[in-house]
Amino acid sequence: MTNTKEIQAIDSAHYMHPFTDHKSLAAKGSRIITKADNVYIWDSEGHKIFDAMSGLWCVNVGYGRKELVDAACKQMTELPFYNSFFQTTNVPAVKLAEKIISLAGDNYSHVFFGSSGSESNDTNVRMVRHYWATLGQPERTFIISRKNAYHGSTMVGSSLGGMGGMHAQGGVIPGIEHIEQPYHYGLAPDEDRDAFGLRAASWLEEKILEVGAEKVAAFIGEPVQGAGGVIIPPQTYWPEIQRICDKYGILLICDEVICGFGRLGAWFGSQRMGAKPDLMTFAKGVSSGYIPLGGVVVGKRVAQVLIEQGGEFNHGYTYSGHPTACAVALANLEIIEREDLVNQVRYETGPYLAQKYAELAKHPLVGGAETFGLVAGFVLMKNKEEHVHFDESLEVGMICRGHCFANGLIMRAVGDRMIIAPPLVTTKAQIDEMIGLIYLCLDATLADLKRLGVM
Ligand SMILES: *Cc1c(COP(=O)(O)O)cnc(C)c1O
Repeated sequence: MTNTKEIQAIDSAHYMHPFTDHKSLAAKGSRIITKADNVYIWDSEGHKIFDAMSGLWCVNVGYGRKELVDAACKQMTELPFYNSFFQTTNVPAVKLAEKIISLAGDNYSHVFFGSSGSESNDTNVRMVRHYWATLGQPERTFIISRKNAYHGSTMVGSSLGGMGGMHAQGGVIPGIEHIEQPYHYGLAPDEDRDAFGLRAASWLEEKILEVGAEKVAAFIGEPVQGAGGVIIPPQTYWPEIQRICDKYGILLICDEVICGFGRLGAWFGSQRMGAKPDLMTFAKGVSSGYIPLGGVVVGKRVAQVLIEQGGEFNHGYTYSGHPTACAVALANLEIIEREDLVNQVRYETGPYLAQKYAELAKHPLVGGAETFGLVAGFVLMKNKEEHVHFDESLEVGMICRGHCFANGLIMRAVGDRMIIAPPLVTTKAQIDEMIGLIYLCLDATLADLKRLGVM
């Protein structure tokens, strides 16, 4: 049995956590997660918790999959590591690249590997700038992104991302511009949804003209914005973004780190959104988080230029094409295919979750409830009829998240937006269980707000 207090003390003394206010964490003490199975995790005090966030949007095949352990063990025994820098390669990396291209479709020919989403977006920026320089247009350096986007936490990742709190610490790299996100419920709930989608896409064209089309290298966006609060764009949005990129010859990068590998009921989210990106970032779900792996799926348009005219691409990571990571990813993709999880999400569990969220929308606190595949979000509203939000200082999202934690549910709060991304293996019965927990936590939050005299 883990000694909770002892581990908490050492945690506080020596382990600097990501995205954490350590002073306040020290006062509360970390929750120590000790084991996991299927869609559940357990803490050191023996509490069982429904992990409706799949770890961090990644454990798509669920916990406890021995096949992935065996794949790692076998590969580590044979060849744990070798690099691909000096005219060498390894079988798992080759096979995984081939597999990913077969899932991505005809537009794509190559995969560049890294170990995370952040690194892979760094690769994207270097790759698109190198592409344009190779074509004799070195002034095309600007990347257009969106407010509230999340593209990772390195300097490039956080600069591409649209999180003010991240920009405020460490600054941003030059050459990145942001446009407003396509958040219908938050920005224009009274406007026709499809009309709003077109209008939101038009902000890209405005920005291109402002920067100067001849200076824009690429636009980057998540098919569905994840960490920004599960912002699902209207169906009109992505085809219009694609049209605008085509009109100005600008490269389109879809950051598929969350949306890729089945989360939206397709192998890649852009396939359901009506976009054909030139580059796709992936990470998280490719290995179901069992081992770090990420990369970029490179479209033929870019690959051909780089390969035929680009010379040496002076870029790569020690762990690019890591054999053990690639072997685990191959086993993971095999599970997703064998269990037909992409279609299960698209035709069974996704629609079922959508139906449950439509019912959840009747709860007095719930505004703008939306789902797509197995991501979902809603915003806690003070008065949804009149579209009144809570005062930010109340941190109502944190109150709700606290009740979730206490009642055995991991649901994330982004401001007052409550979001989930359960494992792709989640069954309908487990969706019922999860929805039951959500109601419990919403009712507890409502009771708190009444007690505080806020409602
Ligand atoms: C998580 C995430 C990243 C960053 O991935 P890391 O592996 O944490 O570096 C990038 N883009 C999106 C859309 C993400 O959700």
